[in-house]
Parts: sequence; structure tokens; C-alpha cells
Amino acid sequence: MGREFQEYFECSQIYACEICRAHLSSHSQLISKAFSGRDGRAFLFKTVINGKLGDPEEQTLLSGLYIIRDLYCKSCDLLIGWKYDKAYTNNQKYKEGKFILERYHIVKIEWDK
Ligand SMILES: [Zn+2]
Repeated sequence: MGREFQEYFECSQIYACEICRAHLSSHSQLISKAFSGRDGRAFLFKTVINGKLGDPEEQTLLSGLYIIRDLYCKSCDLLIGWKYDKAYTNNQKYKEGKFILERYHIVKIEWDK
């Protein structure tokens, strides 16, 4: 049972899993910090690496009806957020294909330049 190779971001500000510190996203991929997750604040990202997705399910969130997939850390299986597959409301379409990471489950790593 080989362990999958993790991917890494080459960026000075990385967002990583709070448990295993796998890289999940970076500051350059951050779209917005003004989101609400299941456990409080959440961030919207363009790309997430080292994640794995659950099955799509319809869910009503604060801003409308969506098809979303739960997003887990590939290394330690922690539930870290979700991915928007489809938004039914026109002004929410920009979220499609984007990722939510819950602030509570990620840590920010900053490298000195
Ligand atoms: Zn993890």
C-alpha cells in the first residue's frame, strides 16, 4: 500500500491541513475570505491540492441551492470543506468549480523570503 505523493505549492503563504499539514491551497489561489462554513468562517479558493471529493449532493446554503461535494484531506481524511459543482442561482455561478476551506480546519504557513 504505497502512500500517494503529495503535491506542494511554491508560494510564500500556504494554507495547510490542521492535522497533517498537507498543503491545500495558497494565497495566490484565494478568492475571498468572506464566506461562512459549517463551523464558522470559511475561505473560497480557485484550486485545492491534496484533496479528495465525496459524492455530489444537493444542499441549500445561505445563498441558495447548490450541488456540492464534501472535500476531505487526501492524507488524513479530515473533512476540510466542500466544492461547488453547480449553483442554481445566476449570481452565484462564479462559485462553480471553486472550493471552500473551513478556517477552523486549515493553518496558514508563511515562509520568510
Ligand atoms: Zn490532513
